[in-house]
Order: sequence, then structure tokens, then C-alpha cells
Amino acid sequence: MADDQLTRDPRAPSARGASPATRFPTRLIIGGEALDAASGATFPTVNPATEEVLAEVALAGGDDVDRAVRSAREAYASATWQGTGARQRGRLLHRLAEAVEREADALARLETLDNGKTLFESAVDVRLAAATLRYFGGLADKVHGETIPVDGGYLNYTRREPIGVVGAIVPWNFPITQAVWKVAPAIACGNAVVLKPSENTPFTALRLAELALECGVPPGIFNCVPGYGPDAGRALVRHALVDKVAFTGSTATGRSIMRDAADTVKRVTLELGGKSPNIVFADADLDAAARGAFQAIFYGKGEVCAAGSRLLVEDAVYDAVRDRLLERMAVLKPGDPLQKGTRLGALVSGAQRDRVLAYVARGREQGARLTTGGSAAAVGGRGWFVEPALFEDVQADMTIAREEIFGPVLAMMRFSGGEAGAVALANDTIYGLAAAVWSRDIGKALRTAHAIRAGTVWVNCYNAYDPASPFGGMKQSGFGRELGVHAVEAYTEVKSVWVALS
Ligand code: NAD
Repeated sequence: MADDQLTRDPRAPSARGASPATRFPTRLIIGGEALDAASGATFPTVNPATEEVLAEVALAGGDDVDRAVRSAREAYASATWQGTGARQRGRLLHRLAEAVEREADALARLETLDNGKTLFESAVDVRLAAATLRYFGGLADKVHGETIPVDGGYLNYTRREPIGVVGAIVPWNFPITQAVWKVAPAIACGNAVVLKPSENTPFTALRLAELALECGVPPGIFNCVPGYGPDAGRALVRHALVDKVAFTGSTATGRSIMRDAADTVKRVTLELGGKSPNIVFADADLDAAARGAFQAIFYGKGEVCAAGSRLLVEDAVYDAVRDRLLERMAVLKPGDPLQKGTRLGALVSGAQRDRVLAYVARGREQGARLTTGGSAAAVGGRGWFVEPALFEDVQADMTIAREEIFGPVLAMMRFSGGEAGAVALANDTIYGLAAAVWSRDIGKALRTAHAIRAGTVWVNCYNAYDPASPFGGMKQSGFGRELGVHAVEAYTEVKSVWVALS
């Protein structure tokens, strides 16, 4: 659907960048209805590129979450949903994929207005969301159990049953993609979902829930309740009728969710933060490696869980890689994210911009050399932009080498000692989400890839994703895998059935 086919929400004040035709979804989706919060409360959602309020969105509190969970439970247990076979669930997801594809331009625009990422990046996200819906649409009727050869006179077989009500909690950096990564496998496997998007970016999640209803997903199977983490998020995690929590966000919140989920022994999967090492060996194609390193940290303004935020370069080629990077950085300027040519958008919020600037200050205090960038910037005098930053002389024990900054800030480090030196430095982190290795020696590249403790390792590339390939973390980057057939494990329970043959 093109923008001019959308009607404007009368509650939304005007804002630069929001075309008069832009409609902002602002109401909770519960039990198939668009509702205000029980308390009547709303929260403003702001365009990070202009700092202007786009719309007031209904603010879900504990009561609303309770209503949404009860409605999900009822819809899950209903004869309608229990009678909706796997093939039909697959068809619903394909229909939703079609709707997302049809509305791709409008959804991308909504995402850019909400998150500050470039229109180019939002379009990539929407495409990946549609592809993920299609993947799980296709997978729905291929989820099955097995027969197991057991001793004695029995037939033993397993069933993969839905878990029940899934509480899905997602962050603001990939709002539509992260929502779909959870909602699609959950529905494919026969669950009902209550989705809580981030308070920073509620629009595309709400629109997705609206579209699901239009596509025939039964009311109550996909609910959406934007609200604050400590209120709506926590209420969802602690609710006795929620069977599983699927969370993506920071490691700190992940820890708190594990604790909160313990009381009701919920199933939990966690996709958390990262501090991903990007290793360039001296025998790499240096042009490709520098291009990859640039994209690894600056794509999505560095607000990417798998960002290559630690660039580890072998001594002999350190200067050559650094110079190539600086050449690219010299032309990477923050710009209006809605403009076609812009490649660096605004950080999601003033708080996030300040957090990133505080890390830059910390890096300097601790003795790292800020070669370029790292200051606040504005476009047309407004917005939460940050100049892309390169730190050199970074030591492994510095804060900027250890903590996730979640912004366009690269920590560059030298290594010697070949593969062992690279692996030791790469693994010196609490995180284990992603990593990359650049080398023309395929044996060396693969040995290194295998030695790194991370859920994803890219060889001579970065940021490759596909709905068929699993994604998730090791160590404190979380557990459980999204995407691929592996996601089925996260959204089903295995039941073992014994049948006496005599
Ligand atoms: P966050 O942890 O602050 O919030 C994530 C979500 O959790 C939001 O919806 C928030 O409202 C909710 N929340 C906050 N506190 C909660 C609580 N106590 N109980 C329940 N819910 C709560 O993270 P963020 O700042 O929105 O996102 C950035 C983080 O997400 C980064 O650390 C990033 O690495 C991580 N992330 C990870 C992946 C991945 O796949 N591993 C992907 C994207 C982002």
C-alpha cells in the first residue's frame, strides 16, 4: 500500500518527514480489537531525526497485559484455533507475508520515522520480515515428531505440541524484523502470542498485528501491547497464564527476565547483547575486509546486536586496513533518514545518543585514541545523530572493548601471534553472539571460525542473514535459536506417547 492510501490519525501532530497521509497505529490490539489502555494513558513516540512527537500511543499497563494474556489463552484453547491445522496456519502466514510485501513502502517509512534508521535499511528489514513469514509459512506443516525404537512390546512416538501462550518482548533496533522472528514461528507451531514492542518503536508491531487480523488470523491469537519494560514487560513475564517468554534485548534485562520467569518455571529463550569481534588476518583481501568492517559497525547506526564493534587486525596490515576504513568514514555523514542517499540515520532516542557519547568520553579517559568522529551531530539543526567514530590504541580491558555501546563507535585493536592470538582476543568477552574472520587461507579461516565461541561466524563477509539459517547467542548473549528449523524447538514441547502393543 502506498503512503497516500493510508489515512492520517487525527491524534497525530504534524512532524517533518511524516507525510500528511501517514497513519500511525496507536491503539492496543487485544482479542481482535483496537483498544485504548484501561487507564486511558498514552505515551508520545518521537521521530529521532527531528525530535518531534509523531503520535500518542496507548500505554499498556498490567491490566491491559492481563486482558491480552487472557484473550490469548482463550483464543488458543478455542475450537477454532485447535481446529486450525498446520497447513492452514502456514497459509495465514503466507497471507500476512503478502500483506507486508504489499505495504512494504509504507511499513519502511513508518519504521524510519519511528527508529531513525535510513529508509534503505528499513526496506531491508521489511523484506527480511516478509521472507521470514514466508519461510515459517512453508515450515508450518513440516513440524513433526518421530517414532523411537524402544525395548519391550511398545510403540513409542513423539509429538511436537505448541507451548501455549507466548509472551514476545522485542527491542527497538529491528522492530518489525524482531517481531516477526518470534510471531511467525510461534503461529506456525500453533501458539498464541502477546507481543510487547519497545516503547521507542511501537508502530510497525501494531501495524503487523492489524494486518494479521485483516489476513484472517483469529482474534486473540496475535495481540500487541506497547508499554514500558518494568510495567507491561514485567507483567507479561510474571503472568501465570503465559507459558513461554521469547525475549530480545539487553543482557541486563535478560537476566531480570530469567529471574522473573523462574517463579512460574516458564520456558525462556533469550537473544541478548554482543561485542562481536571482526578478525582481519594479514593475508585477507584488504579492500573487502575494510568494506566489511565498515558495514559491520556502521550499518544501522551501530545499533545492531551483532555489530562488529571490535575490529581485530593483524599487526602487518593494521595501517592499511585503518587507512581504508578512514577513507570510507570520511564520506559517511549523518543525514535525513528519509532521503534516498542517506546511509547514516539518527540514533533511536536522546537517551541512547547520550549513552553513546558517554562511552566515547570513557574511551578517551581510559587512554584510547579517538582518531575521528564521536561527537553529537544534527541535521537541519535537529535530531539525535552521532558522527561515526574510530578508536585506536584500544586495550582489551578498556570499557569500550568490553561493553556493548550500541552506536556507531568502532574499537580497533592490533593482534599478533597468528590464529591463537586472534582467537584469544576474540573470545576475551562475556558475549558470544557473532564474529567474522577475513583471510584468503580457507583452512585458517575455518579453524578460527570453529574456535570462536559465538552463535554466528561470518567468513569473508558480514551481516549475512537468511530466514533458513539459525541465529542466536552463546555465553551471555543468550540461549535458544531463532530462524531456521531450529526455531521449532523454541516454540514446541515434545511429548512422548507410549502404546502397549499387547
Ligand atoms: P532492553 O533490554 O532495554 O529492552 C528490550 C525490551 O525489553 C523492550 O521492549 C523493553 O521495554 C523490555 N523490557 C525492559 N525491561 C524489562 C523488564 N524488566 N521485564 C520485561 N521486559 C522489559 O533493550 P533495548 O535497549 O530495547 O535494545 C537494545 C539491546 O537489545 C541491545 O543490548 C542489543 O544487543 C539487544 N539486541 C539483541 C538482539 C539479538 O538477537 N541478540 C537483537 C537486537 C537487539
